[in-house]
Amino acid sequence: MDDVAVFCSDPLSVRRLMCICDQFERASGAKVNRGKNEAMLFGNWADQSSIPFTVRTDHLKVLGIWFGGAGACAKSWEERISKVRQKLGRWKLRSLSITGKNLVIRCEALSLLLYVSQVWPIPRTCAAAVTRATFQFIWRSKMDPVRRDSLYKDLGNGGKNTPNATLTLMATFVCGCIKLCQDPRYANTKCHYVLRFYLSPVLRRMGLASLPRNAPSSWTIPYHLSFVEKFLKKNTFDHKSIRKWSARSVLETLREKESADPVEWFPEQTVKAIWQNASSPERSNKHQNMAWLVVRRALPVRSFMHAQTLSRTTRCPRSGCGGDETVTHLLLECAYAEEVWRGMQWCLSRFVPSSAMTRDSVLYGLFPRTHTETNINCAWRIINLVKDALWAVRNLLIFQLKELTPTECCRLAHSKVQDYVLRDALKLGAAAAKARWGKTTV
Ligand SMILES: [Zn+2]
Repeated sequence: MDDVAVFCSDPLSVRRLMCICDQFERASGAKVNRGKNEAMLFGNWADQSSIPFTVRTDHLKVLGIWFGGAGACAKSWEERISKVRQKLGRWKLRSLSITGKNLVIRCEALSLLLYVSQVWPIPRTCAAAVTRATFQFIWRSKMDPVRRDSLYKDLGNGGKNTPNATLTLMATFVCGCIKLCQDPRYANTKCHYVLRFYLSPVLRRMGLASLPRNAPSSWTIPYHLSFVEKFLKKNTFDHKSIRKWSARSVLETLREKESADPVEWFPEQTVKAIWQNASSPERSNKHQNMAWLVVRRALPVRSFMHAQTLSRTTRCPRSGCGGDETVTHLLLECAYAEEVWRGMQWCLSRFVPSSAMTRDSVLYGLFPRTHTETNINCAWRIINLVKDALWAVRNLLIFQLKELTPTECCRLAHSKVQDYVLRDALKLGAAAAKARWGKTTV
């Protein structure tokens, strides 16, 4: 008799419930704590005095969800969202890549929220709060260096595969409603009839359900079901093409329409290759992030921060440089960077000749096709290490006022090459790693 919710449809059922409780008390010797019992009335109950419980008029919690009058929906969401904030706050203490953070959002935040979305649609203010919390978690600040829509996209389209929490939650709610109307498994349940009563005009208009025309239906929709119509109108896909109404298949259908984000003036095919390179799984998550931020020009360099009014100057922090610190300046044009690339040439020339080392190869991993894939792969990994080292050395200079010489920067990058050699040795075996990396292993 612990944590039990009972639905009674009339005073007689309530009396019957009390009889069962009495029987249970007499048989077990246990006692039901009447003072703690609560009831909530829906519809018209003429004789309220016959109800031997505390009657609540506001909200009642059943299995973790609030039900009742206006505000129950928002209350259920707000409660969960504050839990999500707490969880994300704990994860914030770790230094994770965007890929890692996506996993945390999917497993820790979404799983908590999906439960509520099976009952209540997410109101706009709550949806905004969820989005804000997830992006503040990803960027560790209130400023978004990259557009949110872009982050939701697939890796091959220039995104980071970040779960679109509000879309997933809304799709779960809508699919649940449509399934209850359509699926023969629910054909004779009360939920089916209630939802059909309110939703059949909408679903029929969208060509979604072959519901009987002679069944009673309503032309006005309760507030929480109006979200179904809004969702179907907003996400314009061929509704009939969806065979299975599950959140996953709806999200997949929406994803098929996604286009790749443009990069400079490159044609579509090259853009696809650039995004593939930026996220090729042979590199660590950290280096994938770095390559991706470079393509997007979203590294927080001074000219980028200045545009966001977060830095007073756009000047390159290297003494005697005087150029504007943009991403290309930091990685290519600065005299310091040029010297580092010259210093790394002996390491890179084993895989690609210095003539292949162009702006496009450093920023986007685009090489002439004359080199083997293995060589390009190794060169691209080393290039990313150099970019990483250049960025780390620049941050040392700005935040700790430590100045490293170009030779020291090269040494830093080269020490990290060993990590990849080791990684390959573990994955492919020592001989294969040696054949791939050659003298670099020494
Ligand atoms: Zn410079």
